[in-house]
Amino acid sequence: MQYQSSLEFAKAQDQKDPLRTYRDRFHFPSLGTAELAYFTGHSLGLQPKSVRAAVSLELDEWAKYGVEGHFHSTNPWYSYHERLTPAMAEIVGAKDSEVVCMNSLTTNIHLLFVSFYRPTASRYKIISEAKMFPSDRYMLETQVRFHGFDPDDAIIEVPPRAGESLIREEDILAAIESNADELAMVFFGGVNYLTGQLFDMQSLTKAAHAVGAIAGFDLAHAAGNVLLSLHEWDVDFAAWCSYKYLNSSPGNVGAIFVHERHGRNFDLPRFGGWWGHDKTTRFQMKNDFQPMEGADGWQLSNAPILGMSAAKASLDVFAEVGMAALRKKSEMLTGYLEYTVGLLADEFPDAEISVITPRDPDQRGCQLSIDIAGRERQLFDDMIAAGVIADFREPCIIRVAPVPLYNSFEDVFTFGKIMRKLLPK
Ligand SMILES: *Cc1c(COP(=O)(O)O)cnc(C)c1O
Repeated sequence: MQYQSSLEFAKAQDQKDPLRTYRDRFHFPSLGTAELAYFTGHSLGLQPKSVRAAVSLELDEWAKYGVEGHFHSTNPWYSYHERLTPAMAEIVGAKDSEVVCMNSLTTNIHLLFVSFYRPTASRYKIISEAKMFPSDRYMLETQVRFHGFDPDDAIIEVPPRAGESLIREEDILAAIESNADELAMVFFGGVNYLTGQLFDMQSLTKAAHAVGAIAGFDLAHAAGNVLLSLHEWDVDFAAWCSYKYLNSSPGNVGAIFVHERHGRNFDLPRFGGWWGHDKTTRFQMKNDFQPMEGADGWQLSNAPILGMSAAKASLDVFAEVGMAALRKKSEMLTGYLEYTVGLLADEFPDAEISVITPRDPDQRGCQLSIDIAGRERQLFDDMIAAGVIADFREPCIIRVAPVPLYNSFEDVFTFGKIMRKLLPK
């Protein structure tokens, strides 16, 4: 696509955009700035306008039915979580039986490790990416220690090569190969939160399986952002949150994927709770835990209905649009941002602007991580004050995510316009 840096061009693209009407279905924050370009869908997605009615309905039903709402409300709470499954499974490319919405992300990864990280004296190592999201790193360290191993020995981080920002797949594959006999698991973020690098999960899974290891992924920055085929890729397990690209509300319920071949394996160790127990005998309150088949069998607790109702309203939008259409627009929109940043880099050489996210659209989602080595953090504060809502990571990375569901080409143009005013300072 031939991009141009003009308001007319941006508006013409928005006119042509088949998804343009979705923008009106979201609340944009009013932060008192003259202009606003919200680019932090990578941290907290915007609120779908349909959420309020969905949550209100459950509040009304609770008022009206009390405990009877579990079975007699419009959308009975007893099976409420099942209503979220089809759309969530579609988003990650899974069968319905392989996905369930429950708990939150870090909790879920710990629970999945109970089943899938079963180290032995000789096979206990985990390969992951360097500069993981801190919560994942803490999770890994504490899991490894819990099993009596030393994180420095058991966790192998694959870093970018000296002078590079991205991790080369060949280096990950080499690490898998050279630790083949000691490797218990490959655990990666599907899209790295900091650099926006999208890993080839199919290839990593294949390599892990080839040496007898498990492959698991944290999809916090991938779900709702890139096309996923977890079932087909033969991934063992995955977990993600719903409040970033999936717009479900702050801290809302997460989701897990467990491949169907594990979902039928009742010998896998797991932590049990009544919601994971066979639902036909759940209320008999017997002592013997019999997990349900599929991902459902990893649930512990009954569903938090208010949060789930917000998540359901948001997932309905995804079910309507479909990931394929979102991804198509996403590639063009992020391409426009890349073009815009390229112009700024040329115009302001002493700002030392560069994009660290991969250039190849197949190796990234919507986010671009922009290195502004030549400018202080002050630039970022000025951006916020001027209405560009992005995210800053030490020492000098700005993460900007144009989200195809609600961002426009005009937003990206506004970004360029505001930066052009701020960068000379
Ligand atoms: C956002 C994010 C988290 C947050 O975890 P919570 O348990 O939902 O607080 C964890 N890991 C990654 C990679 C993330 O991007």
